[in-house]
Order: sequence, then structure tokens, then C-alpha cells
Amino acid sequence: MPVYGDEVVVLRSQQLGEADRLLTLFGKERGLVRAVARGVRRTSSKFGARLEPFTVVDVQLFTRNPLERSGLETVTQAVTIDAYAARIVEDYAAYTAASVMVETCARIIDAEPAPQQWALLVGALRSLARAEREPQLALDSYLLRALSLAGWEPSFANCARCDRPGPHSRISFGAGGAVCDDCAIAVGATTVADIDVMRHLWALLAGSWRVADAAEPSVRDRASQIVAGYVEFHLDRSLRSLGVRAADRRP
Ligand SMILES: [Zn+2]
Repeated sequence: MPVYGDEVVVLRSQQLGEADRLLTLFGKERGLVRAVARGVRRTSSKFGARLEPFTVVDVQLFTRNPLERSGLETVTQAVTIDAYAARIVEDYAAYTAASVMVETCARIIDAEPAPQQWALLVGALRSLARAEREPQLALDSYLLRALSLAGWEPSFANCARCDRPGPHSRISFGAGGAVCDDCAIAVGATTVADIDVMRHLWALLAGSWRVADAAEPSVRDRASQIVAGYVEFHLDRSLRSLGVRAADRRP
């Protein structure tokens, strides 16, 4: 019988009919999986809260045709490994940060194993659940690292285009980060980032928390805007290149 076991992070859980849930899962072994959990809304359900977003669960998945990965699979068993959700939903800032993390992750991964992305997401959710640092910092650092693993690692020190040593004061999303004055003219559209913002972005990417935790709120906010712009630039472009219409992106 085509039943698989995997350790999954629940990225999304949508109501399906009266009692079922449509799940988007990130499997450690299998990458993105879409599955149905039947009867989870019944009070007698043995799944219940185990399949809430941000939860790490050991699941058994049944698939009718193992070669047809685009089809929906069925959750036949679920055992909670880490219930980060319970603590994340108690803090609004942590909840919104975790929501952006899982939505971005769902857009980056596909039905292929991505163990580094998986470990990055689980680590980021754990950090939010334990309130180890400001949710805004945890989110921005997660986004920069997730994009880097996906092949879009930005540079916030040397010029991303000609490698001239920084610090530089302009960022080009298309060029991949900081650009020198000459390259800024060549690439056209750039966004301004003063040295404190650039250093903060560098620290978030490198995981240098001593530097990141010390940043002023205005520096953090400006860096957040730049990170969001960088994510949107690359994800929108990759979706367009796959021929996905913008209207299909958000349900
Ligand atoms: Zn340059």
C-alpha cells in the first residue's frame, strides 16, 4: 500500500466541506505536499489541533498513485512532535511573523526534498515560540536566509554587480543587493540604504544577533521594507517565469 511517513511542518490549513481540512505541508523528506485530513473538525477526531499551522507533526500519508505527485494525499495518522503553534498564537507579532514565514516558504519550495529550507523554517518557528528575539528580526532574518537558499543570496557589503568593496549606500533588487555608485547608474532603479541599515541587513543575513539586536527601531523598520521588497521582487519574478498569473497567487 502506498503509505509514506514523513516529518512535516503544517504551512496552511483550510476548511474543506463540513469536517475536512485541506493541508499544505512541508515534508522533511518530500518537500511540498498537499493533503486532506478527513474528519478533523469532529470533536472525536484524533488529529484535531495536531494539524494547525506552525506545528511539526509526524504523519502517515496515503497516496493513490506514488508516481503522480500533483494529486492530493490523505493524512492517515498524525503525531505532534513540536507544538510551536500554541505559543506562537498567544503573541500577535509572533503570529503575524510566523504567518509570513510559512506563506513565503510555500511559495519557495516545490515537491522536492529541501532539508536546509526545512531546518531553517523549523528553527525560525522554534525561535518565535520561545520568544528568543523580536519577531520582526526573526522574520527578516528568516526571509533573507530562505531566499539565499533558494539561490538569491543578496550582498550587503561588496557591490553585488562588480564586487567593489563597500560600504555602499544603494541597493538594487535585480542586481542582488548593495551596488556601488557606478553600478547604481548602470542598473537604474535602486533604493537608498544608509550604512546603519546596510549593516543591519548584513547582520540579519549572517545571523550576527549582537549587531542585529542593537539596531534602532527606525533602522529595523527600513530594513524590513527592503527585505519585503527583495522577497517580492524575486518571488514575483520566479512566478511570472513559471507562467503563473498574478490572480492565481493568493487564494
Ligand atoms: Zn559595482
